[in-house]
Amino acid sequence: MIEFENVSKVYPEGTKAVKDMSFHVEKGELLALIGPSGCGKTTSMKMINRLIEPTSGTIKIHNKDIREYKISELRWNIGYVLQQIALFPHMTIEENIAVVPEMKKWKKQKVSQRIDELMNMVGLDPETYKKRVPSELSGGQQQRVGVVRALAADPDIILMDEPFSSLDPISREQLQQDIQQLQKEIQKTIVFVTHDIDEALSLGDRVCLMKEGEIVQLSTPQDLILNP
Ligand code: ADP
Ligand code: ADP
Repeated sequence: MIEFENVSKVYPEGTKAVKDMSFHVEKGELLALIGPSGCGKTTSMKMINRLIEPTSGTIKIHNKDIREYKISELRWNIGYVLQQIALFPHMTIEENIAVVPEMKKWKKQKVSQRIDELMNMVGLDPETYKKRVPSELSGGQQQRVGVVRALAADPDIILMDEPFSSLDPISREQLQQDIQQLQKEIQKTIVFVTHDIDEALSLGDRVCLMKEGEIVQLSTPQDLILNP
């Protein structure tokens, strides 16, 4: 599904952010990417949807080099949930969610159904919330909208970069459960970045432990050896 083959990233001023990384993520798998700040997690994620180009190596999606896809095609098929929620402040929740489905020219009726379905799935009543603007929602609710927006156009792959880091513990727990539920229901391929080991162990089908741009361990939560 997603394959990294000897991928490296050296930033222009010389930082070796990712060093010769090879791994794959299976279809329907949730891979938790964990490691200390600065170990290369975000760089790895951004290379998957070509926000950052690798210095060397190849990334493949569905066995095809990502450079062979049109950028728009690639990004439409990858939902990205960011650490800082970046909803458009002057657009309603509904309009925020509809951006990619509309670019894909989905019919209005289909978009509207999809929005209701997904909002219900993450526990946001569509009738109550879809006409509001982001500032009328709590941080946790906005994060949920971020998740819904990433899923709206039915991407094959979802990248989540510390999506819960700004949340209070209760919202966080709730959203963790939602993600697990989502993955069971719709079998998405998910790469989930966190620096919370408990979150990685409870959510990940496999856990990829990174340090200084390299993979230290990649295993199921059961087989992970902490403090190697
Ligand atoms: P995270 O909290 O996910 O580790 P950071 O806070 O390290 O992310 O980085 C936030 C943004 O700043 C990212 O888009 C990253 O590309 C950029 N960034 C991080 N470190 C540097 C740096 N040394 N020079 C320039 N940009 C950086
Ligand atoms: P993480 O997400 O694990 O915190 P990042 O991928 O954000 O790590 O960063 C990995 C390394 O690359 C860090 O040393 C960071 O400072 C550096 N870095 C990240 N983005 C940039 C950038 N745009 N320019 C230069 N250095 C960067």
